[in-house]
This record gives sequence, C-alpha cells and structure tokens, in this order.
Amino acid sequence: MDSQTAIGRIGALLRQAYGPRRQVRRRDNPLDWVIRTLLSQNTTSANSERAYETLRLRFPTFEDMHGAPLRGLISAIRSGGLANQKAVRIKALLEEIWAAQGHFDLTFLRDLSDEEVRAYLGRFKGIGSKTVACVLLFGMGRSAFPVDTHVFRVSRRLGLLNGQHTPEAAQAFLEPHVPPGEHYALHLNLVEHGRRVCRAQRPLCDSCPLARLCASVRT
Ligand code: SF4
Repeated sequence: MDSQTAIGRIGALLRQAYGPRRQVRRRDNPLDWVIRTLLSQNTTSANSERAYETLRLRFPTFEDMHGAPLRGLISAIRSGGLANQKAVRIKALLEEIWAAQGHFDLTFLRDLSDEEVRAYLGRFKGIGSKTVACVLLFGMGRSAFPVDTHVFRVSRRLGLLNGQHTPEAAQAFLEPHVPPGEHYALHLNLVEHGRRVCRAQRPLCDSCPLARLCASVRT
C-alpha cells in the first residue's frame, strides 16, 4: 500500500474513533498563533492556554507586549513552563518583527501562498518549520501538517516513517502524502490517539482501531 493510501485509511479509522473535526478559516492576526505556538512548546494544552490568556489579559496589544519589561512577560506566562526562555523568545521575535516592518499586523500573510508564508516566518529566529506549520494549519486554515511528539511517535509505530526520519524530515515527508482536506483532522486525531491509546509507555494495542494496519503489531 502506498503512503497516501495508508494515510487515507488511517485518517478514516481515526475519524470513526474520534469524530469529525471542523477547520476554521480565521481572519485574525496570524502573529497571535505564532505566540500561541511558542507558548505551547514542552507543556500541556491547558497550561499553555492559561499562559496565553494571562499574557493577553496583561498585554492586550502586541505593542503593549513589545514595550513590557521582560520580567512582566515572564510573570504573565509562568503557568506555561519554561517561562524565562519563552519570554526571551517572544520579546526577541517582537523586536525582530518591529525592526523589519514597524508594525505587528501580519494579516497580509493571508494573501500569500504557503511557501511565501514559510519563507517570511522562517527568517525569524526561533521560528522553525513546526511552528510555521502550526500557524498555517490553526491560524490560517491551510493544509499544513505539524509533526509534534505524538504525531511522530504514532506515525513511526504505524510504519509510516522509517528510523531515519527526524521530526522535521517526518513533517516534510508526511505533509504531501496527507489526502487533500485531511490535514487538520488527521493532525488532531493522531495527537488524541497518541494521548489516549498509542501512549509513549504501554500503548493499548489490544483496543487500538489501527491495529490491523500497524507495523508494530504485524512484526
Ligand atoms: S496498534 Fe499499538 S503501536 Fe500501533 S498505533 Fe495502535 S496503539 Fe500504537
């Protein structure tokens, strides 16, 4: 079975297990999603969401955030973990964007192609291909496929990736093989599957809806 067919079948089984997902075409500033994604690293969704809410409550505009002292940013995002490191990255990013264009409105990205968005965001320090893919998928309603720790682990166990793929290479490999219109649902469902069933320790293969397609079970 080729990769696209296998991914299509896995996507269909996961949709049956976890239900449909509706991707929203957003109109707000994609910079919001850059910040959200930076905050989501190495923590739970609940903690990063809390950190983001507090950050926006204390600094409602990007100008406020840019002008805030570093310790103010650290204090606002403390609930998200790695607050010192993340605050330095947010501050540096806002400074770079300000220096590059003199404002924080990135809504013009909506008029660019995926490749142009990748090129624009990818030039800023600390914005890697996974962050850009998250902004494209969640912030702009595009067909990108971020590979986080759950997507990477489950995809490897299923046999979609070989042992040579790094997470970054996995993203570049998988993204074009995901059937059109399936990127959003497949990403969310693989994350949910990785949390609930194909867990890092002791995966629940006996009750897994993907077992008959899984290379780890067949070997
Ligand atoms: S069968 Fe096991 S290893 Fe394969 S996807 Fe399911 S839980 Fe993961």
